[in-house]
Amino acid sequence: MYVHGTLSLCPHAAVLSAFVVAFHKWRPLETTKYRRCGRPLAYILLVFMCYNISMVDLRDMTIGEMESFFVELGEPKYRAHQVFSWLYKGVTDFDEMVNIPKVLREKLSGAVYIGRLAILEVQESKSDGTQKFLFGLTNGGGTNVVGADMEMTYANASDADMRCADAVEAVFMKYKYGNSICISSQAGCRMGCKFCASTRNGLSRNLTVGEMVSQVLEATRQTGEFIGHMVVMGTGEPFDNYENLSRFISILHEKEGLGLSNRNITVSTCGIVPKIYDFAKDHPQVNLAISLHAATDGKRSAMMPINNKYKIAEIMKAAKHYTAETGRRITFEYTMVNGVNDSDEDARNLMSLLKGLNCHVNLIPLNKVEGTGFDTVSRKRAEEFAEMLENSGVTATVRRELGSDIDAACGQLRLKKSRE
Ligand code: SAH
Repeated sequence: MYVHGTLSLCPHAAVLSAFVVAFHKWRPLETTKYRRCGRPLAYILLVFMCYNISMVDLRDMTIGEMESFFVELGEPKYRAHQVFSWLYKGVTDFDEMVNIPKVLREKLSGAVYIGRLAILEVQESKSDGTQKFLFGLTNGGGTNVVGADMEMTYANASDADMRCADAVEAVFMKYKYGNSICISSQAGCRMGCKFCASTRNGLSRNLTVGEMVSQVLEATRQTGEFIGHMVVMGTGEPFDNYENLSRFISILHEKEGLGLSNRNITVSTCGIVPKIYDFAKDHPQVNLAISLHAATDGKRSAMMPINNKYKIAEIMKAAKHYTAETGRRITFEYTMVNGVNDSDEDARNLMSLLKGLNCHVNLIPLNKVEGTGFDTVSRKRAEEFAEMLENSGVTATVRRELGSDIDAACGQLRLKKSRE
């Protein structure tokens, strides 16, 4: 929910509430004709004001929303652009925004905040530079409001920090083509894929736009590295949080923000079909990956409950629409599970399903999650499977495993923490 439209009412509400309360003290309202509504009105206004103030995170705003916000504050639009670019330079304290007049900085710090995420844990791979972050979330759906010194780690986090209501993960990876980040879109997930760690405790809540933005900004700050690529393949189903995802993508793409090329962004869905159509329309330059994992409805439904709602035929129709509408190649993810979807027959079914479509198959040997009963396949088997697809004209690669010495697989660290 975005509430900047009500923000300008906050100072008015504050003054009015203070006035009503003061008036009541000076001249008890029982003697006035306002006695029935005076006190309740003051408290309603106070609650309204606090509610609004507590909800507005500057990292939640697109550039257009920030412009309207500044206009509502009675400021020129260019101030929005100045503040926006400070935010995406990583500035977290209004006082560091040196081209903003002091009076305005004070006004801003009284009205909004720069939401941040507490870093509860960082795991770093010794072999390939992969870093996994566990970020703490507050209860309400706003980012943690904390001071400027945020290099908080699990080791030095206070009890209060550890009472963070939930946590999400992001993974920083180094590739030949540059640095990439895998971010989470929800705390938990309600899609129920049987082999996945993220879904084990269900969905806690959607992440706000600011919380998604903060994963990128905090990882950039922590690693000191430029991040030029992003995949939304962490915990959660991005299309189950579509509105926030959509605004988040436009913020990252904004040239005064991080200026991330749309072509360097990939969103992965388990196959929420109507949103595939929306995505093709709203973000035609962003890459789309669909988690297929099986080529027949029987097998797919057994692995992924979402298949009971949207069958493979509907997914293929939406995928064809996406490629036709955007001119982009679509990726299919196929997590390989021993004895479940890794036979020659599975490969043949996959070939006939995908033949002729502008697509690529990304084979992922299962990252074993304790308690699921699913086992992984050997790298050799994954490569044989890829070769079968390639021979039939369907391009396929086996995903390179990064961060194998840490809990880099999706949702594993969060799950481990929740069990501690
Ligand atoms: N909800 C999105 C993003 C999920 S995570 C989606 O379903 O696409 C990104 C990919 O990792 C998905 O293809 C997901 O099915 C896969 N995945 C989840 N758990 C896995 C595991 N334990 N091993 C291998 N791949 C896994």
